[in-house]
Amino acid sequence: MKLDTVYAGFRVERIEPVQEVNGTAYMLKHEQSGARLLYIDTEDTNKVFHVAFRTPPHDSTGVAHILEHSVLCGSRKFPLKEPFVELVKGSLNTFLNAMTYSDKTVYPVASKNDADFHNLMDVYLDAVFYPRVAKDPMIVMQEGWHYELESPEDPLTYKGVVYNEMKGVYSSPDSQLDHHKMKLLYPDTTYGHDSGGYPDNITDLTYENFKAFYDSYYHPSNSYIYLYGDMNIEETLAFIDGEYLSNFQAIDVDSSIAMQAPLSEPVVASFPYGIGNDESDKGKAIHSLTYVFPEMSFTQSLAFEVLNHALFTSGSAPLKEALVKANIGSDVSGAYMDGIRQPLFEISVTGSEIEKQAQLQEVVENTLRQLVDAGLDKELLEASLNRIEFILREADFGGRPIGLAYGLRVMDNWLYDEDPIELLRYEPVLKVLREGLSTDFYEKLLRTYILDNTHKGLVSLYPEKGLQEKKEQEETAKLAAIKLNMSEEEIAHIIDQTAKLKEMQQAVDSEEALATIPLLELSDISPVVEVTPRREIDHKGIRVHHIDVPARGINYVSLYFNMESLREDELFYAELLSDVLGRLDTERFTYAEIAKEINLHLGGYTMDVLPVSIHNERDAFVPLAVVRSKALASNIGHLTSLLGEIIGRTKFDSQERLVELLKEGKAIWDTEAFRRGNTIVTNLLMAKVSKIGKFRDQDTLGYFRRLVEVLDNETLLAGVTEQLMKVQQRLFRKDNLEVSFVGTIEELETFLAHLDDITTVLSDDSWEAQLEMTQSYVNEGLATSGKVQYVAKGGNFRDHGGTHTGTMSVLETMLRYDYLWNLIRVQGGAYGAFANFHNNGNMVFCSYRDPNLENTLQVYDGLPTYLRELDLSPREMRKYIIGTMSGLDVSNTPFLQGARAMSLYFGNTNEANMTAFRQQVLETTVEDLRGLADVIEKVLQDNHIVVMGSEQRIKEAEQLFDKVSNLVQ
Ligand SMILES: [Zn+2]
Repeated sequence: MKLDTVYAGFRVERIEPVQEVNGTAYMLKHEQSGARLLYIDTEDTNKVFHVAFRTPPHDSTGVAHILEHSVLCGSRKFPLKEPFVELVKGSLNTFLNAMTYSDKTVYPVASKNDADFHNLMDVYLDAVFYPRVAKDPMIVMQEGWHYELESPEDPLTYKGVVYNEMKGVYSSPDSQLDHHKMKLLYPDTTYGHDSGGYPDNITDLTYENFKAFYDSYYHPSNSYIYLYGDMNIEETLAFIDGEYLSNFQAIDVDSSIAMQAPLSEPVVASFPYGIGNDESDKGKAIHSLTYVFPEMSFTQSLAFEVLNHALFTSGSAPLKEALVKANIGSDVSGAYMDGIRQPLFEISVTGSEIEKQAQLQEVVENTLRQLVDAGLDKELLEASLNRIEFILREADFGGRPIGLAYGLRVMDNWLYDEDPIELLRYEPVLKVLREGLSTDFYEKLLRTYILDNTHKGLVSLYPEKGLQEKKEQEETAKLAAIKLNMSEEEIAHIIDQTAKLKEMQQAVDSEEALATIPLLELSDISPVVEVTPRREIDHKGIRVHHIDVPARGINYVSLYFNMESLREDELFYAELLSDVLGRLDTERFTYAEIAKEINLHLGGYTMDVLPVSIHNERDAFVPLAVVRSKALASNIGHLTSLLGEIIGRTKFDSQERLVELLKEGKAIWDTEAFRRGNTIVTNLLMAKVSKIGKFRDQDTLGYFRRLVEVLDNETLLAGVTEQLMKVQQRLFRKDNLEVSFVGTIEELETFLAHLDDITTVLSDDSWEAQLEMTQSYVNEGLATSGKVQYVAKGGNFRDHGGTHTGTMSVLETMLRYDYLWNLIRVQGGAYGAFANFHNNGNMVFCSYRDPNLENTLQVYDGLPTYLRELDLSPREMRKYIIGTMSGLDVSNTPFLQGARAMSLYFGNTNEANMTAFRQQVLETTVEDLRGLADVIEKVLQDNHIVVMGSEQRIKEAEQLFDKVSNLVQ
């Protein structure tokens, strides 16, 4: 394309090569409709599209969020209940989602398949520009909120997908704190509202307000269209223009985002949050100290990322240390929050007491003042800068498409009418940041935006027993009063609406409507799994696996240690070891220095515990402790010597430091438990059923419970050092190690020349395997102060003669997007539900953020009957097969490719088995699916159940459980 030329209504306004993304950026404007478009032309075949709108809300009714849900409920060309879900079922997408932020809504898709990419784009554009919800209030009732009433005698209740979702979100004290904080710090602008919706305010939303919000914001003139990757751009532009944009004339949209005038006085406030009646209220306060910034440049933003890393994240972080030493709380963290027009810098403390609120600010500001006056530690800053630089160069977004990450990044400028391309160019910024190391650049930033800033807030939450019950009673009373004030006609109307909504939810899309969703042919899909090259080398008696894939000059090293020489009761200490290694003093370095060294030379260091099931076996698995690190190839010598230092020369004798780390681990757990609900319940359930499940539970709830026990017991606490040393000795042995290396053959040679750095610290002893996992768990109800449930049921199908086949994967897809989706999400009001069938026979159903409990179990139990009566058209069958294929085997980064190759190796399987499995998926028939009913029924009859959720609901369902306990003691 040429500059200043018009293609399908789009004028090319700028063309610029961007070396950092290996491509060229084109800025275009659709002249008739006013739409903006940014195209990044690269060779990447993982193509990305998004359409975004600036959607600043004026209240906390969650209108932006409800709109995001609602536009995906049918449109002009695709008149189905849920085209989005139909798409997920049958597309090869590598990403498909929609996200509501505080001031924008983004609809991104990605695919490597051209036809698929085109289809996804079409469905999304039709959804945002021609949604059914623009004419159908019932959709807002379903996705937002509505009164539910089935007969005149029943109590009135609130229901709705987003209403329930946000109730779940606000079960977490973090979210409550966030809500109060934003309201106080941005009182006059959009950021003071929750775009997701605050449950008490969601029920204020009317259809009129909803419609007005849609009409003003969802117009091309307020849109930001993004394209990335290897595509025929002129054809793509012609499609977007012809089908959509040419139908619109540019209008003036006022979606501007006002700046909050700086507060001249800091805000100080505290609020109660509910905890269970049996929970202790000690150490349950949380604090947030937040500084609000004006608009920041890319350079300033990255500088604050560096500062945050240096002050909080790096293991030698001085500000974090000062706060920990002052005993303010058990966990302290800092965050620079970008992605809004006025970013903020926040310091959060959990596991504290409310009386310590003021002290937090004193310690932060006194420490920072001292640091700034004396000059920051430049080595520490350099180490953090190197880490940030590594992250930018590696461009690994956890397996998500790179183009997606770029697209979201550019919005941080584009949305505020600034240059989006600037945010892709990090080289000039890194140069400025590096030069800043020899001046007072960083000190000045801290002085201006933190120490001299009056636009700040100190907001805290403290625990209060019975608050949740009080709130529930208030809601019940409020609803009763509303009902009392209703006329008979009004009540009849609500009953009628409830029935209509149920009818709508249970209605099945017509074949004709379903056929509007474009669907690929099975012949478009290859059954063959891409083989990752793995070569075994014997290096001085150690098995090294070389994985030869191009990795942008970065090397990934993993050390796999077999854990079979540990006893079951020692697994806890192995987990603990993985949490503390790299954060304690070693023979050569203090823990602060080691953190600096890691950041200076490496891209990261982690240790994890990872069990791998043996292919086609019920109980056999390989328990592994994996030490991972990565670095630029030129730094490989640093990598080996640091790993040697950490695993071989760590000193465990500082009881004070150990206790500090243990307490921090517990505090992180306290705040994360709600979010990890589905992992907690599925692992606890599987612990009852299988050995690998029991092993995994030692990494979740089992670990947490032991941690609490150890922290509460002086004798156990005093013994931690000895236990850690014992486990370290027994794990890190030469005869117990296998190594994997991702990089080129030349890089491997260099690595091997340095491998002695690691092997010389390993023990030469041999140990017998002695790990025996015992099954002892029971059906358990875990009571929390949350308002929603995580309901899990499952067992093992190998026990009942089942074998793992591709059909089960197709069933997973079908359940997730059909049976469980309809009954548990759409009708039950849960956020979602899923089913998993594993090769070892483990099978689990799980719902999350679920208002129900017994009903959900009934849905699971109803599955066999449903399956026996299952009838699918050939087209529907094909759709589920394609949807299943897109979820199999996504490993699109060098790191993930290496990890997959190793897990195939340890699991005693190979790509040929995976290809055979894919073939089974491709050949699945309706009869195959029906054939699973019997075995699933038998597993369900074993009646293994675990539920985590509201204290009251758990107690009401007590008869289901062998044991009811509190999640947090
Ligand atoms: Zn949502």
